[in-house]
Amino acid sequence: MSADRILDIAKRRGFFWQSSQIYGGIAGFYDYAHLGTMLKRKWESVWRGFFLSLDDNFYEISPSVIMPKNVFVASGHLESFVDPIVKCVKCKNVERADHLLETQLKQNFEGISIEDIEKLIKKHNIRCPKCRGELREIGELNMMFPIEVGTSDAAEAYLTGETAQGAYVNFKLEFDCLRKRLPMGLAVVGKAFRNEIAPRNMLIRMREFSQAELQIFFDPKKINQHPDFRKVSKYKLRLFPVKNRKKNKINEVSCSDVVKKLKLPKFYVYHMAKVQQFYLDLLKLPHKKFRFRQLSDEEKAFYNKYHWDVELDIESVGGFKEVAGVHYRTDHDLKGHQEISNQNMEVSADGRKFIPHVLELSFGVDRNVYALLDLAYEKEKGVRDVLRFPRMVSTFDAAVFPLVNKDGLPEKSRELQCLLVDNGLKVFYDASGSIGRRYRRVDEIGVAASFTCDHQTLKDNTITLRDRDSMKQVRIKLWDAPNVLKRFLRGEELPKLGKPFK
Ligand SMILES: [Zn+2]
Repeated sequence: MSADRILDIAKRRGFFWQSSQIYGGIAGFYDYAHLGTMLKRKWESVWRGFFLSLDDNFYEISPSVIMPKNVFVASGHLESFVDPIVKCVKCKNVERADHLLETQLKQNFEGISIEDIEKLIKKHNIRCPKCRGELREIGELNMMFPIEVGTSDAAEAYLTGETAQGAYVNFKLEFDCLRKRLPMGLAVVGKAFRNEIAPRNMLIRMREFSQAELQIFFDPKKINQHPDFRKVSKYKLRLFPVKNRKKNKINEVSCSDVVKKLKLPKFYVYHMAKVQQFYLDLLKLPHKKFRFRQLSDEEKAFYNKYHWDVELDIESVGGFKEVAGVHYRTDHDLKGHQEISNQNMEVSADGRKFIPHVLELSFGVDRNVYALLDLAYEKEKGVRDVLRFPRMVSTFDAAVFPLVNKDGLPEKSRELQCLLVDNGLKVFYDASGSIGRRYRRVDEIGVAASFTCDHQTLKDNTITLRDRDSMKQVRIKLWDAPNVLKRFLRGEELPKLGKPFK
């Protein structure tokens, strides 16, 4: 399926569109519409539920997105957070150099040096894609957004380029509040900003975007252990190591073998397993659409010692794309902040003083939402268009319909709607058109469960529950609907929830 098709669905049904569209918008900024916002919130809430429960000492915080310049001096972003660019001599068009090479030479050039870019442009005589002019002025552009704060005496500040820094500047304060225990986790679900030269692929590369990140501060001496490692030791990770790139092959390797053969520490591998379980066991995405991609030394961010990205196979944007990452950032960040802020970041534990190390689980929320949309879409020829979102994140929790718009069925349906809403569930109510048409409509926006009140309901207070994916139905008691729906959304199978109904 093409990217245009996704954009069309997103616009027509209300998932997302270009921001400030009535004024023409600015590239790289998108607004979530009503369904997109529901999908995004659900994904975030599943994320919170899963990752914050990995340890009693993991918490969410909400730091400011505007931070003083020194934060980014300390983090290295002002110096190293750059993209390579080339400029056309004739029409002044600026292109992101590695992306231009990628489209022209059909290879990945992320992390390539300026010198190598120059060589490749000469060697292959690559020219301006807009006017065929000569490309020169190869250089770098910093992606941080500067911001003026106040009127006179403006403080130098920036919009944060990653939510992680908010966790690092709060580390010491939280460590003291939380009774000085390691590991300690600080999660941030929030916005980040990068002045991309070439925003592209809709929600995949934006200038304002959302991240869900968990920074785990731990004792580096304990990196080769995790109290729950035994529980995942036989669990198989889907790995795409650097050496497999030519063969384009994914290996399934048990966590204990990953530790032994790939020499990755247990603390790191345990969290890889949890990330994979989030995608495959909780969201139940297809296994073959998921892989961990090892980054080569050139591709790795300057601060990461171990770096495997999570990639999902997103057809509409050309295949496997990064949606998350597991990053071992060592003490790079806290050490940097200690140096620039002159605040001691050391902690005392087990009779030693040291700066904790950081394992970061980093997720691009928008990319994940886009991937859900891409993976969910299916055109069942001659039958229907359906969005098969995982039940847990499927926009509305349920639809409620009266079979016909008379005989007291609308009143009964409103009663059911109230019951569900009172139980904290989000309901889509629809009484217009035939029941078949109404089912199609909710299939198109991805609602997983539909309840219908029919004439039987008036006799014995039972209703039908229809499953979007199988289109099968069961009969249940009306008063039991909130409980049954919650079980359904958690993944329980339809036949277990009620009596079969045709
Ligand atoms: Zn040009």
